[in-house]
Amino acid sequence: MSEGDTVFRTARALHRAFAGRRLTAADLRVPQLATAKLAGWTVTESISRGKHLLLRMAPPDGGRTMTLHSHLGMDGSWRVYAIGERWRAQSRHLIRVVVRNADAVAVGYQLHQVSLLPTEDEHSLVGDLGPDPLDPGWDPDEAVRRLAGRPATAIGEALRDQRNLAGIGNVYCCELLFLRGLWPWTPAGQVPDLPALVALARRLLDVNRSRPVRSTTGSLRRGETTYVYGRAGAPCRRCCSLISTGDQAGRVSYWCPSCQPALPGAGT
Ligand SMILES: [Zn+2]
Repeated sequence: MSEGDTVFRTARALHRAFAGRRLTAADLRVPQLATAKLAGWTVTESISRGKHLLLRMAPPDGGRTMTLHSHLGMDGSWRVYAIGERWRAQSRHLIRVVVRNADAVAVGYQLHQVSLLPTEDEHSLVGDLGPDPLDPGWDPDEAVRRLAGRPATAIGEALRDQRNLAGIGNVYCCELLFLRGLWPWTPAGQVPDLPALVALARRLLDVNRSRPVRSTTGSLRRGETTYVYGRAGAPCRRCCSLISTGDQAGRVSYWCPSCQPALPGAGT
């Protein structure tokens, strides 16, 4: 599942292969962009904002910079190949974007919300995002302010809301709550130490941004990379209680009923 760390890594891989290079071809397989002509444009930068990927490029005539925006959603991905390298065996109908330069080709699979817009208008897509823990301008105080801004919202829901923190998906959400001993339905206003929760979010994304296997436990072994996420019915790694699972605002939440006790008198 793509979270901020995956998108950050993807943006960096695209940047390494494309920044400062001229596109020799671009094939946008989304109906509204099918006629866009980007061959000859120079990629200036590839960055991530939360789960959004922004590929900025300048036209050959020195006109205004445009941004090819994509969202990886649950299942989208970008792969960079050397020219001539075999593309991964995946149905071609999942390909949304192909861009090439003289040495590399980037293929975007199952991308969501692919759009092309003037770079100066990026805020219309990402302007509502909360602080991004992987952004150089990361502002933890602002993240705390936003989480605290709706005190009645369940903390699990608040953490997944991209307007509070950008780049936190369901995996990090469940794992953060476990590590802080918080029941997912605890109202944000009743979380004892929001700054510590926000600091931990940044730490977890940061340790994972450069490695291909995401782990919140420290172990990179298969089946040992999470405490609670994806482990319904398995014993808690700390206390051996069985991990619970349940729907929270349309997303599947996982938690340990002993390490993350429900607030007295509250039901899910
Ligand atoms: Zn436990």
